[in-house]
Amino acid sequence: MPSFVITDKCDGCKGQDRTACLYICPNDLMALDTKKMKAYNREPAMCWECYNCVKICPQQAIDVRGYADFMPLGASVVPLRGTEDIMWTVKFRDGNVKRFKFPIRTTPEGSAPPDGGYGYGPGTLDDNLLATEPASLKANELWTLGK
Ligand code: SF4
Ligand code: SF4
Repeated sequence: MPSFVITDKCDGCKGQDRTACLYICPNDLMALDTKKMKAYNREPAMCWECYNCVKICPQQAIDVRGYADFMPLGASVVPLRGTEDIMWTVKFRDGNVKRFKFPIRTTPEGSAPPDGGYGYGPGTLDDNLLATEPASLKANELWTLGK
C-alpha cells in the first residue's frame, strides 16, 4: 500500500525549498501543499513502498500500510533512522511491541566516497561501461563486441 502523510505531524520541513520527502523519493511522488505546509503523495498508484520517505522524514510523519506478507493486519512497522543505525519498531495488534536495531554504516558519516573509491573510469554516455567498470569487477578491461 502506498505511503501516506500523517498531517498532524508534518511541518512541511519548516518551509525549506525542498522537503526531505521530495528530495528522497525515487519516483518523484511526494509534493508539498505550500498553503497548508503539508506534504502528500500525489500519485499513490505509482508508489512502490520503498520506505525511503518514511525513513528520512524528521517528524516521523509518513507511514506505509504494509502488505500482509510483511506485517499482519492491524500492525505497524515504524523506522527511526539515526546516524549509525536504524531502529524498527513493530507493533502487533495484540499490543506486543518488538524493536530491531541494525547498523547502517561502516564508515563515519560523510566520509564514504560516492564512487566507492573506484573512480568513474572511462565510462561515458557513449560507451557500454557502467560507472566504476571495469575496476569494480576486478578486471583490467571488459570484453566488448568490438574486439
Ligand atoms: S519529510 Fe516529513 S515533515 Fe518534511 S514535508 Fe515530508 S512529511 Fe512533512
Ligand atoms: S515509499 Fe518510496 S516510492 Fe513511495 S512515496 Fe515514499 S519514497 Fe516514494
